[in-house]
Amino acid sequence: RAKSAGGNRFERADPEADARVITRHGLTTALPAALDRGEFFIEYQPLVHLGDGSVRGAEALVRWLHPQHGVLGPDRFIPLAEHTGLIVPLGRWVLEQSVRQAREWRERHGGDTAAPLRINVNLSPCQLRHPGLVQDTVEILEHEGVAPDALCLEVTESALIGAEDEVLEPLHRLAEMGVDIALDDFGTGYSNLANLRRLPVSALKLDRSFTQSMQRFPADPVDLKIVEGIVALAHSLDLAVTVEGVETGAQAEQLRILGCDTAQGWYYARPGPPERLHELALADATG
Ligand code: C2E
Ligand code: MG
Ligand code: MG
Ligand code: MG
Repeated sequence: RAKSAGGNRFERADPEADARVITRHGLTTALPAALDRGEFFIEYQPLVHLGDGSVRGAEALVRWLHPQHGVLGPDRFIPLAEHTGLIVPLGRWVLEQSVRQAREWRERHGGDTAAPLRINVNLSPCQLRHPGLVQDTVEILEHEGVAPDALCLEVTESALIGAEDEVLEPLHRLAEMGVDIALDDFGTGYSNLANLRRLPVSALKLDRSFTQSMQRFPADPVDLKIVEGIVALAHSLDLAVTVEGVETGAQAEQLRILGCDTAQGWYYARPGPPERLHELALADATG
């Protein structure tokens, strides 16, 4: 429309861009009240053992039910929350809800499932640098009576690689307590693989881009080699390998053959309400 108006240089050519800017600003200012009003909710996506197909736990993924814009995914608001610092109380809320949920699953399942269900929670770089992280985590686990080994904190590779000792120290303390730490989106950063040794991690989550490459048949031989190499390195360092974004049975099979331990993706289940995970785990235990 800017063009038909005679190329007025001062007219904005992309009205949608304006809308996005307003929304971004609007979302940022609406965030704190949204937390108070309880507009956030969590969906859980199962983590499935590639060897026997059993549900081992779930990743907690936060969403915002915005009164005007509907359900917003974390990519829309987590960066804003990090920018304003709201990620600290929001992240604490996610951790609380997720640990409580893990306790409920465990109580409801009793000894039904092969292994007790575990919960994975994402941590942003900002939360890592917050001095209350260890104490908050300990308090939440104790308050819910959940053992530390039921919890896995996911930190992205880019947040950890090259991190100073001060940033790693709280993670070391959590790991010593028995909390698992996983390196999320692994393979997308510029990791010095030797660096893995000084990180208190017990698992790698292979980025979805590798999984996507397994979709092509035959898969790119170079990608196959890379995944094979990562799995061998991870296992030699005693790290488990989880794969993200598995959308087809062919991908799952390929990744299982390559030695990956656990998988997550739409092929198994989309992220959903906690009852859904309960049903999946139970069906799995009885069927
Ligand atoms: P992530 O931790 O790598 O989570 C995996 C993302 O992949 C999720 O996107 C999930 O819905 C999506 N996904 C799962 N399976 C498939 C699949 O088969 N195909 C495809 N195409 N996608 C799949 P989501 O829920 O939009 O979350 C995006 C990112 O937001 C997460 O990436 C995580 O980094 C961040 N995030 C989510 N919840 C939290 C939170 O509570 N705190 C923090 N700090 N970050 C969060
Ligand atoms: Mg994650
Ligand atoms: Mg991930
Ligand atoms: Mg990812």
